[in-house]
Amino acid sequence: MIGVAVHSTEQDAVAEFFELFKTTWEFHRNDGRYDVLICTRKQIPQNTAKLVLLYGVDAMVSDTDAGFCVKLRRGGTRLVHGGRQIPIYGGVATFPGSRFAMVTEEGTGEPATFTRSSGNGIVLRVGYDLFHEARHVLNAGQPAANAGSATLDLHIALLRDLIVKSGIPVVEIPPVPEGHNFIVCLTHDIDHPAIRSHCFDHTMVGFLYRAMVGTVVSICRRRKTLRDLRVNWTAALKLPFVYLGMARDVWSGFDRYLELESGLTSTYFAIPTRNYPGRPLAGNGVSRRAARYDVTDVRPQLQKVISSGCEVGLHGIDTWADSTQGRAERERVAQALSTTVAGVRMHWLFFDEKSPAVLERAGFSYDSTVGYNETVGYRAGTTQAYKPLAANHLLELPLHIMDTALFFPNYLNLSEEDARGMVWKLIDSAEEFGGALTINWHDRSIAPERLWEGFYLKLLRELKRRGVWFATAAQAVSWFRKRRSAVVEAALVEEGRIKIKASVKSDSKLPGLRVRVHKPETGKSAEGTPSQLSPAFVDIALNGTIDTEVKL
Ligand SMILES: [Zn+2]
Repeated sequence: MIGVAVHSTEQDAVAEFFELFKTTWEFHRNDGRYDVLICTRKQIPQNTAKLVLLYGVDAMVSDTDAGFCVKLRRGGTRLVHGGRQIPIYGGVATFPGSRFAMVTEEGTGEPATFTRSSGNGIVLRVGYDLFHEARHVLNAGQPAANAGSATLDLHIALLRDLIVKSGIPVVEIPPVPEGHNFIVCLTHDIDHPAIRSHCFDHTMVGFLYRAMVGTVVSICRRRKTLRDLRVNWTAALKLPFVYLGMARDVWSGFDRYLELESGLTSTYFAIPTRNYPGRPLAGNGVSRRAARYDVTDVRPQLQKVISSGCEVGLHGIDTWADSTQGRAERERVAQALSTTVAGVRMHWLFFDEKSPAVLERAGFSYDSTVGYNETVGYRAGTTQAYKPLAANHLLELPLHIMDTALFFPNYLNLSEEDARGMVWKLIDSAEEFGGALTINWHDRSIAPERLWEGFYLKLLRELKRRGVWFATAAQAVSWFRKRRSAVVEAALVEEGRIKIKASVKSDSKLPGLRVRVHKPETGKSAEGTPSQLSPAFVDIALNGTIDTEVKL
């Protein structure tokens, strides 16, 4: 059991951090008995813990007691642990001369940790403010420059590593569904289901330019083929007949995703209102945000989507800023399709710090907006669905990979090969940390002139190979809620054996959970750098109640 002694202002961030690192913990009580005490207070409370972890940037009494001259760095640095960089947004304290260099500051290579023995065991000082970092990443998100770092997941891995390498086991319920390696949410924002509604506007002109000229340029850069050229030029030449109603719309048919994703489930986000750009966000409000369709125009396709077991959510316009509008937008989609709408993703990813509370008041169970327009990766530093600190119930299912970010000239502008390198790295990371990798492939991305279907199919093949659970966004969020509701307790019964009790309400519609026991790494807590983050562990399936003992 971990006891956590923090200031009252930190409690909300601590509680959410430990929903993500689902281990045995509680806020410190004077009569509590803990194996590990995490403390951010100046004064360490009375305890009998074998390991006391002191997190913080400001100099502590223990620093001078241990004879260290502390060096402080404020903001914008990185720590290195197990060969990986962890961005730090507050500050870092380093302890030059410490022989415990499991965590170092990137720029100087100086240790950001030291240990000393105390009456009961070890005091391990860590020179940054863990819960301040968690709060910052969950509230403000990471800048695009740090998109590649699953920062919160790395903080959890570091904490786990510090404990097991101090010879203490860790019992947790990892964000990994039983029978799978991680979760994938395939999603599709429906922005342009028909080019027919874009007669002589910038979208049509852009399409013609990219199809006729852009494809030739792409061939010269080896990013498109002669076959693509034929398809795109044919689509462009067909356009007058599309507008005359004599040819099939070149963008229609997003329900083709049902064939590409045969046997899988996914989520489609539909716009409620035609020709309405919505409110501006930080001066970013232009008429171009208005969609030229509304949900009733694509009713037959979306009904097909629903009857195939997929989900339809709201692609919100004003929902991010106004809960009354949010309710109205949600109702419009629900009524048009005679379905319930549990979740939302905002068009153009409009969002601000008040949005979680607004969305909650509008009656949404989840949001999936927190991601980047311009790059791929971890805006919220995690693949886990989390509860924004401003919300009581709403869960955020962060968005990680968007087609337009990968291939648009204004964004990453990647070749297929480079996109593969970037996306496969995120898949590797999900395989290691678990969680839900959320992907957005837009409605017209498989149509001319984008023709990004080939890459998408390769991506699906790779994900199938990795043993993932393909879930709708609502299913994934329900699974995370189930994990949040689970209870786990652990206690050492004798040397080398640990007793574990865990329970969760069984639910046949969702994959089960698993309890993971990380064995202590006694004798390896020395002053070296660990070669990997994941020590040995044992998994036990959890679908109801378990009461068992595990040999360490
Ligand atoms: Zn959109």
